[in-house]
Amino acid sequence: MKLKRREFLKLAGATGAGLALSQLGFNMRSLEAASKECRIHGAREYTSICNFCSCGCGMICHVKDGKLINLEGDSDHIINEGALCSKGAAMYEVPNSDQRVKTPLYRAPGSDRWEEISWETAIEKVAQKIKQVRDETWIDELHSTDAMSFIGGAQNNNEECYLFTKMARAFGVTFLEHQARV
Ligand code: SF4
Repeated sequence: MKLKRREFLKLAGATGAGLALSQLGFNMRSLEAASKECRIHGAREYTSICNFCSCGCGMICHVKDGKLINLEGDSDHIINEGALCSKGAAMYEVPNSDQRVKTPLYRAPGSDRWEEISWETAIEKVAQKIKQVRDETWIDELHSTDAMSFIGGAQNNNEECYLFTKMARAFGVTFLEHQARV
C-alpha cells in the first residue's frame, strides 16, 4: 500500500496512540466512539493556498455546515510540508470574521459613506472606468497608456497569469507587476 506523507502521519499517529492507550488499559471501544465526536468528524476536507505572501503554503481546510471549522498546514504540500507561519495559521480567523467584507462597496463622489452594490454593478463600474481612463490617456505613438497598471498575486496560477497578461496587453498596459517575488 502506497501512502502519502499526510496519510502516513495520520496512520502512524493513530496506530501509535492506539497501541499506547490500549497498553495503558484504556477501553478502545469507548475511545473510538469518542473520536467520532471529534471536531472535524463529518466535515468535508479541502486543500487551499495561503493568501498572505508569495510563498504559497498549502493548507487543509475542514468545512462543516458551510463554515470553516479547522485549518492546518498540508504535510503533502511541496512548499511548506505541513508548516504554517503565525500569519498563515491565523488565516482561520479570516473567513469566520464578522468584519469580513463580502459585498463590493462603493462610495459615490462627494459622499461620506460606503454603500453595498452588487457584483454586476461593481464589474460594470470598473469596466467603464478602465475604458474612460484608457481613452483619455491613450498614447498613439506608443500604442499604449501609462495611466494604468496591473498587479498579479501569489494565488494566481500560471494559466490565470497568462490570461491577465494577455488582457493587460490588449488594454495597452505596459506596467505589469506581480506580488509573488522570491
Ligand atoms: S503560511 Fe506564512 S510563509 Fe506560508 S504563504 Fe502564508 S504567510 Fe507566507
